[in-house]
Amino acid sequence: MTEAAPTSTVPAENPWRNAQRQFDQAAELIKLDPGLRRVLREVKRQLIVSFPVKMDDGSVRVFEGYRVQHNMARGPAKGGIRYHPGVTLDEVKALAMWMTWKCAIAGLPFGGAKGGIVVDPKRLSEGELERMTRRYATEISVIIGPEYDIPAPDVNTSPKIMAWIMDTISMEHGFSISAVVTGKPLSIGGSRGRNAATGRGVMFVALEACQRLGIDPKASTVAVQGFGNAGSIAAQLMAQQGFTVVAVSDSTGAIHSASGLDVDGVIAHKKATGSVAGFPGATAIGGDEVLEVACDVLVPAALENQVTGENAGRIQAKLVLEAANGPLTPDADILLEQRGVTVVPDVVANAGGVTVSYFEWVQDLQSFFWDEDEINARLEKVMHRAFTETWDTAKEHNVSLRHGAYFLAIQRVAEATTDRGIYP
Ligand code: NAD
Repeated sequence: MTEAAPTSTVPAENPWRNAQRQFDQAAELIKLDPGLRRVLREVKRQLIVSFPVKMDDGSVRVFEGYRVQHNMARGPAKGGIRYHPGVTLDEVKALAMWMTWKCAIAGLPFGGAKGGIVVDPKRLSEGELERMTRRYATEISVIIGPEYDIPAPDVNTSPKIMAWIMDTISMEHGFSISAVVTGKPLSIGGSRGRNAATGRGVMFVALEACQRLGIDPKASTVAVQGFGNAGSIAAQLMAQQGFTVVAVSDSTGAIHSASGLDVDGVIAHKKATGSVAGFPGATAIGGDEVLEVACDVLVPAALENQVTGENAGRIQAKLVLEAANGPLTPDADILLEQRGVTVVPDVVANAGGVTVSYFEWVQDLQSFFWDEDEINARLEKVMHRAFTETWDTAKEHNVSLRHGAYFLAIQRVAEATTDRGIYP
């Protein structure tokens, strides 16, 4: 029996087509060599695996999973693993391509990859989740490793799941290979600051963008769609910087308070109840409304294709920070640009996660660990440089920040690809 067909969670837009469209637009603007264009608009390697798992009731279920490597010209591939019923090969290909650009913008010596399993992990027991994870790790072990491709957490995957992957690969080799995945628990070579890194990076970028746009954080309101690792920590750290968080949502509900939500309280409420819904003092709103509430800064931190040509006209924010990967479609980009809304693209806004994953990999390879202040200071430096270079490139060419980011990224990956030449 295979996993049930994806239902409403599957984005209507095809993320891979969107990723290629974004690439084509940028390649056209920078007049990229046609040969390089053909190379970079495809993924280098895509692995599809179907594998059996023994369920608690004794039955056998077959799951489908993927690992895709887009480009490895600048170094080993890097990218998360997603567990979601809506995962498709095209989604994973898009996410892998975005990882290539993100690593290049952040100046990390990595290419881009991504993985996923078509599954709703909330419907598995802990034992089933572990067996599925370990078997998937074994299936993709033919293309992952510290020198090849280093996975990390993404939607619905956690440090515990990374620990099972690390242990599985280590058992198969007979010794500990901590650098095979990042986002691990501290006890087995995880990095301090990794769990908060994506949200912290979003906060740094929020401050940089507000400064450039003349927005005062202390007089600004924020709405956050998706209250998981990226969204909840971005909301918490932005609140600590003086922003007022007026609305948040997760897959089970959305809440609003014009005078501001107590973000620490919402985090505690979600931990206790599993949902942001029902937080005392807040008003329940529709899931889609969180994108459209009156606010200065919108942080989509859930999944792809949330702001489209259909609802972009109703976005009230002046600044959108893409904490999620691919939350805006190309049509939404055009509409928001026409309306003067500044969009900090995913490949810059959420690069904090992969940056601290890079620090984790470096620490594991050296078996020498840094303290959290050092991690956060280094992260701030990387985010500042990535944002500034993107901003300056966009201004120089009079294009959007997304195009500016793609200019930088594609040039860096194209240069590495050209310098290496074509084998054989
Ligand atoms: P997560 O599983 O921790 O959280 C996802 C959150 O989104 C959950 O709160 C879930 O309930 C919510 N959600 C799902 N569908 C929703 C919907 N339709 N409306 C509102 N909320 C919804 O995942 P995460 O790691 O925080 O990842 C979120 C996004 O950030 C993804 O696009 C991911 O690729 C991206 N990202 C994550 C990291 C990281 O380090 N975790 C790094 C870079 C980018």
